[in-house]
Amino acid sequence: MEETAEEHQARQEMVRTQIAARGVTDPRVLAVVRALPRHLFVPEGWRHQAYLDTPLPIGEGQTISQPYIVALMTALLELKPTDRVLEIGTGSGYQAAILGMLAGEVTSIERIAAVAAQAEAHLREVGVTNVTVLVQDGTGGYPPRAPYDAILVTAGTPSIPPPLLEQLADHGRLVAPVGGQDLQELVLIRRDGDRYEEYPEGAVRFVPLIGEHGW
Ligand code: SAH
Repeated sequence: MEETAEEHQARQEMVRTQIAARGVTDPRVLAVVRALPRHLFVPEGWRHQAYLDTPLPIGEGQTISQPYIVALMTALLELKPTDRVLEIGTGSGYQAAILGMLAGEVTSIERIAAVAAQAEAHLREVGVTNVTVLVQDGTGGYPPRAPYDAILVTAGTPSIPPPLLEQLADHGRLVAPVGGQDLQELVLIRRDGDRYEEYPEGAVRFVPLIGEHGW
């Protein structure tokens, strides 16, 4: 895994100034973000910008999310090393790698085959082996591996797809950007039996979730 001293340094700065300074303090989350080389998940031409406070294009009109948002969403999921996790929207595979480093098993669904193939290559390169990438519409979830202790939707949806709520384990956590095509509210849902408690976690901007239970 190639990495220059500058890249290493830039990543430590990113965690300190963009993530910890804004209130994400979970030590396990900060440790994996410090360790994982984000520059390997962005296209060659963008690598010099990999540690900036911004999302970046990854091709096919899709993006790798802003580092702070990745850390925030991950912290909200309160992952345990044995958790089974579902991610909708693999994109670059960066968020999937973070989830894999903190949980037991991750299923990540991406609708664009070329994007999924790139993500799989990135995951191999960084040596994360507990993430399975599937190419399909993820708005229906993935029943064969349900229930999931944590579900993360990384594309903006008009409402939470009902199949995802069904596939969430009791005491499970679900995080999704819910709202319009241009702006969404990051929503945390905790399941307690048949009750789903909802918490607003701030405004965010994601590419649209396109599928049967999305846009
Ligand atoms: N988590 C990613 C960023 C995701 S960008 C990362 O860490 O880089 C959102 C991704 O969701 C895009 O790649 C888009 O193609 C994908 N997507 C949109 N609708 C989808 C759907 N219904 N099912 C699966 N993936 C979807």
